[in-house]
Amino acid sequence: MKEQQTYFIYTFGCQSNSADSEQLAAQLLQAGYSAASAPDEADLIILNTCCIRESAERKIYGKIGELKKLKIADPQRIIGVAGCLAQKDKEKLFAKAPHLDFVMGTFAVGHLLEHVNRVKENREHVLSVWEQADETQRLRPSNLSGQISAWIPIMYGCNNFCTYCIVPYVRGRERSRPVNEILQEIAALAEQGIKEVTLLGQNVNSYGKEGDVKASFADLLRKADTIKGIERIRYMTSHPRDMNQQVIDVVKNSRSICEHFHLPVQSGNDSILKAMNRGYRIQDYRALVNAIRQTMPESSLTTDLIVGFPGETDELFNQTLEFVREMRFDAAYTFLYSPRSGTPAATMPEQIPSAVKKSRLQQLMDIQNEISLQINKQSEGKVVEVLVEGPSKNDSSAFVGRTRTNKIVIWKYTGSEHIGELLPVRIDKAQTWVLKGTLVN
Ligand code: SAM
Ligand code: SF4
Repeated sequence: MKEQQTYFIYTFGCQSNSADSEQLAAQLLQAGYSAASAPDEADLIILNTCCIRESAERKIYGKIGELKKLKIADPQRIIGVAGCLAQKDKEKLFAKAPHLDFVMGTFAVGHLLEHVNRVKENREHVLSVWEQADETQRLRPSNLSGQISAWIPIMYGCNNFCTYCIVPYVRGRERSRPVNEILQEIAALAEQGIKEVTLLGQNVNSYGKEGDVKASFADLLRKADTIKGIERIRYMTSHPRDMNQQVIDVVKNSRSICEHFHLPVQSGNDSILKAMNRGYRIQDYRALVNAIRQTMPESSLTTDLIVGFPGETDELFNQTLEFVREMRFDAAYTFLYSPRSGTPAATMPEQIPSAVKKSRLQQLMDIQNEISLQINKQSEGKVVEVLVEGPSKNDSSAFVGRTRTNKIVIWKYTGSEHIGELLPVRIDKAQTWVLKGTLVN
């Protein structure tokens, strides 16, 4: 056997999963494992999974199938599934893929080594899907070398039960982490050279409402803003129902909290919003956006939209298009509604045929892309401050960074810029998803 055991983690899905993968990696590093650069070089492979839409599940099952050949090549290699799909499908995963060694749910994230050790001892399937969260002490992510940004979960779970969404079923009820624990973690990250943190939760604006935290999200942001060394603070996701003027004011008066608001609206029609159980009306959303834009005219606004929710007629869909034209979002993440078994919307009448959903998605994307381009064009000729992230993946002679408003900026590498610096870049050419520019001396 090799002296040092190695691991490889696949991460699917949202930022909560990225943060969980860091937790899994931290446990392995502490136990003496090292990271492998490819799955076929790893003694332990983990798939940290997502089940938000059927398309995500299909992709993951495909990847699990592919890994069978690595198990055959080396039967001692351990392959496990963690995350939301594990929480949802449980032993079904073993039935579909007997070459898996363990399946661990979202509540068991802190217990990876126990599962791995049980597999090593008994060489049998280990199923560990709990129905209750075990709030073990989080390890500080320790594999951050070369990174300038980090994820920080501030709360887990969700209480909202939007009728289309599986998250509350696979991530449990809302639990907020104590303020001091979060602040200490951010300060420790700053000492390690991290410049940007993103505070994570399914509904960050309800931080502290449950349990004995006794602080609001606005309080947490205000305190986080005082931590030296952190240049930028981001957060996601905000629920439009719980976002308030207090938070908007804290962002405005802060040094480091970015002027980017991600407010998923999901639909532009009140009856669909009601059927989705979103808890706000279009006029509430409009008022919120007006308040943000009045307070910070330079801020950016992005959203999530679902097309083809049950009962969405052409007329109701057209109202969403109208609303998108009215709001002029900087960008929108658009999704085909995907029925999730066990959620109320999956059994609602008037499910929309797939072809209709696809055609609506295309119309929506065409309109939004045009708006994104128009908005981005306004920055041509302007100088923006970017946080340097590093070389571009597609062009080794270019560097990439982000503005405070979360726009991606690409420029020709000059040799003088360093990862983690804040630098001015003049925008020469705007595209729908990126701004191309030149570094200003
Ligand atoms: N908690 C966040 C919120 O409330 O906006 C984000 C949750 S989810 C990880 C991200 C996005 O996926 C949602 O905003 C929604 O647009 C989309 N989504 C969730 N369930 C979906 C489903 N069943 N079909 C299609 N899109 C879905
Ligand atoms: Fe899902 Fe709604 Fe919770 Fe977001 S707020 S995670 S969409 S149930």
